[in-house]
Amino acid sequence: MTPRKNPAPNFVTHLECSLTGAHYPANALHNLSTSQKPLLVRYDLEKIQSLISRDALKQRPPDLWRYRELLPITETPVSLGESATPILADDGAARALDLEHVWIKDEGRLPTGSFKARGLAMAVNLAKSLGVKRMAIPTNGNAGAALAAYCAAAKLEAICFCPEDTPAVNLQEMAFYGAKTFRVKGLINDCGTLVKQGAEAGLWFDTSTLKEPYRIEGKKTMGLELAEQLDWTLPDAIFYPTGGGTGLIGMWKAFDELQALGWIDDRRPRMFAIQSDTCAPIVAAFEAGHKEATLWPEASTVAAGIRVPMAIGDFLILQAIRDSQGAALAVSDEAILSAQATFAKNQGILLCPEGAATAAGLQEAAARGLLAGCRSVLLFNCATGLKYPMPGEVMDFSMKQPIEQALTL
Ligand SMILES: *Cc1c(COP(=O)(O)O)cnc(C)c1O
Repeated sequence: MTPRKNPAPNFVTHLECSLTGAHYPANALHNLSTSQKPLLVRYDLEKIQSLISRDALKQRPPDLWRYRELLPITETPVSLGESATPILADDGAARALDLEHVWIKDEGRLPTGSFKARGLAMAVNLAKSLGVKRMAIPTNGNAGAALAAYCAAAKLEAICFCPEDTPAVNLQEMAFYGAKTFRVKGLINDCGTLVKQGAEAGLWFDTSTLKEPYRIEGKKTMGLELAEQLDWTLPDAIFYPTGGGTGLIGMWKAFDELQALGWIDDRRPRMFAIQSDTCAPIVAAFEAGHKEATLWPEASTVAAGIRVPMAIGDFLILQAIRDSQGAALAVSDEAILSAQATFAKNQGILLCPEGAATAAGLQEAAARGLLAGCRSVLLFNCATGLKYPMPGEVMDFSMKQPIEQALTL
C-alpha cells in the first residue's frame, strides 16, 4: 500500500527502532524496523512542554484524546467514546497486606469491553489517515473485537485470525461488527504467521501487537491517565497481566515522556508482569536473566488474553521490569479463578481472568517479600468479566415450592 502524507502537523518528530535507535519518517505507513523490531513514536517534548501545562488538561473531556499532544493524531479521530476508566479501591486487600492502597484500574468500561480499544482506536485512525483500506490481526479475542468495531466505525475492512480455542462470544462479536473472522487450528503466533503472509502478499495491513507503531501509543494512555488520576504521583507498584506486553511497554514510555515534560518526578513504579504458569515465557526469561524470551510450548490458560507464547517486544518488557526493579511472576490458573471468585463475592467486582491474575500476582509478590517499601499498588483489570464464562451456581425453583425454601436451599 502506498504511503500518504499526514494531513496536519502534530508533535511527532520521527519513529525510532526500539533496538538500534534508527530513525524513520513519521508520515508514512510502517510495520517493523529493518531490524525486525518494534518502532516507537517520538515527540518534540520540549515544544509540548513550552505550549501546555498539565493543569490545562483539566478543561478537556475525560477521555484518552485529552492527551492529544502526546498522541500521533492529526485530525478529529473516529471515536467510540474512550472514557477515562475508574480506579477502584480494595481496602480489604490493602489492610490484609499492610499497604496503604490497593487500587484496581477497571478497563472493562471501554468500548468493546477491554483495554484493547485504546490501542486499536489509535491504530485504526492512523492507518486510515495513511490510506489503509484493510486491516488484519491475529487475536485471542479482545484485540479482534476492538479492531472490528473501530474498522466498522472508520469504514475500513477488518480481518481476524483466531486460535481454535478463542471463546465463542469473542468470535461472534468480531463477526457481528462485520469483520471477516477465521478460526485457525493453532495458537496466536500461528495466526500471526497467516497475517504476515497476507501482508507480504499485499492483501492487507498487518495490525499485530507491536508490529505497527500506534497500538502502543494508545495503550500508553493508561500510564498518562493513571498518573493524572492519582494527581501525578505514581503508585509504588503496577501489576500488569502480560501477553504481548504492549500496555507495560506503553506505560513505561508514558512515564518517560511525563518525566521529560516535568509533569512527574523520577519515582517510578515497580513493574510486575503477571503470567499464567502454563504460559510464562517472560517469567522464564526473567528468572534465567535473559534479555529475550523463547517460545513457550503448548501454551494454554483460562486467561486467554495472556495466552501469548512468544512476544516480539520481549526485550522491551524485560528491560522495563528490570529498570523498574519489578519482577515477572507466574500464577496458576486455580489461583486466577479463585481470585476472580473472591473479588466477585466480596467486592462486587467482576474481574476478567487476566485481571484476576494480577490479584493473584499481588498475593504472590507479597508472599515472596517483593513489596518491601511499597505503600500503594495498582492492579489492572483489562476487560469486563462478562465476556468470560462465570461458574455461578444456579438452582431451579418451582411455582409450587414453599417460599421458605428460597432461603434454605
Ligand atoms: C490483550 C490482553 C492482555 C494482554 O495485554 P498486552 O498489553 O498485550 O500484554 C491482558 N488481558 C486482556 C483481557 C487482554 O485482552
